[in-house]
Amino acid sequence: MSTKPIHIVGGGLAGSEAAWQAAEAGVPVILHEMRGARGTDAHKTDGLAELVCSNSFRSDDAETNAVGLLHAEMRLANSLIMSSGDANQVPAGGALAVDRDGFSDAVTARLEAHPLITIVREEITGLPPADWDQTIIATGPLTAPSLAEAIAAGTSSDALAFFDAIAPIVHFDSIDMTTCWFQSRYDKVGPGGTGKDYINCPMDKAQYEAFVQALMDGQKTEFKEWEGTPYFDGCLPIEVMAERGPETLRHGPMKPMGLTNEHNPEVKAYAVVQLRQDNALGTLYNMVGFQTKLKHGEQVRIFRMIPGMENAEFARLGGLHRNTYLNSPTLLDPSLQLRSRPGLRFAGQITGCEGYVESAAIGLLAGRFAAAERLGRTMTPPPATTAFGALLNHITGGHLVSHDEPGKRSFQPMNVNFGLFPEIEAPRVEGKRLRGKEKTIAKKKAMTGRALADCRAWLGLGPVAQAAE
Ligand SMILES: Cc1cc2nc3c(=O)[nH]c(=O)nc-3n(C[C@H](O)[C@H](O)[C@H](O)COP(=O)(O)OP(=O)(O)OC[C@H]3O[C@@H](n4cnc5c(N)ncnc54)[C@H](O)[C@@H]3O)c2cc1C
Repeated sequence: MSTKPIHIVGGGLAGSEAAWQAAEAGVPVILHEMRGARGTDAHKTDGLAELVCSNSFRSDDAETNAVGLLHAEMRLANSLIMSSGDANQVPAGGALAVDRDGFSDAVTARLEAHPLITIVREEITGLPPADWDQTIIATGPLTAPSLAEAIAAGTSSDALAFFDAIAPIVHFDSIDMTTCWFQSRYDKVGPGGTGKDYINCPMDKAQYEAFVQALMDGQKTEFKEWEGTPYFDGCLPIEVMAERGPETLRHGPMKPMGLTNEHNPEVKAYAVVQLRQDNALGTLYNMVGFQTKLKHGEQVRIFRMIPGMENAEFARLGGLHRNTYLNSPTLLDPSLQLRSRPGLRFAGQITGCEGYVESAAIGLLAGRFAAAERLGRTMTPPPATTAFGALLNHITGGHLVSHDEPGKRSFQPMNVNFGLFPEIEAPRVEGKRLRGKEKTIAKKKAMTGRALADCRAWLGLGPVAQAAE
């Protein structure tokens, strides 16, 4: 090896893709994977890129779906995860689902066969030694404890979250603002606010009682053994609060005080669901205090009972699970490098993206950034208009500044979604503005068309006819 190797810790979705990208760029890689020597609570095999739960890479529709777009961009970028997924596809409608063993075997075989990749089966228990001058840590949500502790100590004590409660996030344009209204409680302006910072959805007594009953009756996801973390009172699931008594929610996250329905000022709402802006673009809103472990289908059904949310589209559904992730916007630079330790990058779910495909995509970028640096080249980050760029910007700094504590950043893991992309005008048809679903689809198509063109340009591929895409 004439070029010094890059070390990659973790051979999951992100680490495998990072190794492939760096090696394909001509840089030797040493991939350290602990399975074979030590397991995790979720992985079942020693195979690289094992899918721990579902076998789906979700929608493969690159025209109107953000994860489908990410698939397309990854394919353009010679992704190992995507080509191995495509080669092991199983029927799943519009989704890309894979034979999990065939997929993992394919990734393992191709990495093992690559002349520039060496795979070492060992647990890395601390931050990389000084002579590993280019390292990518891609150890995922179940990072082995000793390394997690070393990362926490090497960054700052509150940099890693070990318990994660998430509330659903809704696309703004799917909320009915003829029912809901903007207002902060008691019109409080606060630092950086306007007095109209929240979306409020009103409920009368009958609607509230039916909603509370639905929460209690809804099917819940059972915690796995490794998720046996006790609840903290500060982030109780909404359905657990509902079980504590019929009035609990009305005195908690659904309290109606200090709010006046601008559409019907004479009638005081019995309870109010509030949503708070979740991204700088104002395209996404999260449901305040609505962390939940209801099953995903149940969340959609029950939360659409909320007045004004009858047609809500969810960018992310709620969940409660153990997670290990960095406060990346503070800690990482735009090339995923630890600001305090150049040459040390992070990739995958540990950076605060969520999902197999997103983790692999961030691995792809980290591998390319590290290889470019090793080769003495500068790599321009992907444009913000691409799925790569939208995801990277979410992780390294694009997230909204104020939540409960104005001036502080709030960073939550997230799947790729259209709310992370810069706005685009929906095209007009014969000079006329489109409305409703037609408008939404036209906008998505405009966004994905722009993304693929910009991604091709970024990769130096040159334009092709849309049909060939
Ligand atoms: C129980 C569970 C279910 C999930 N279900 C889904 C799902 O259905 N769909 C979905 O899209 N996403 C799901 N996820 C999220 C999923 O884990 C991630 O999307 C994805 O696997 C993350 O990729 P990664 O490469 O960051 O981490 P991983 O794929 O977990 O890879 C990390 C690798 O690092 C290794 N490792 C850890 N510590 C060390 C160490 N100290 N030294 C050496 N190696 C180490 C691990 O053995 C592992 O191989 C789930 C996660 C969990 C925990």
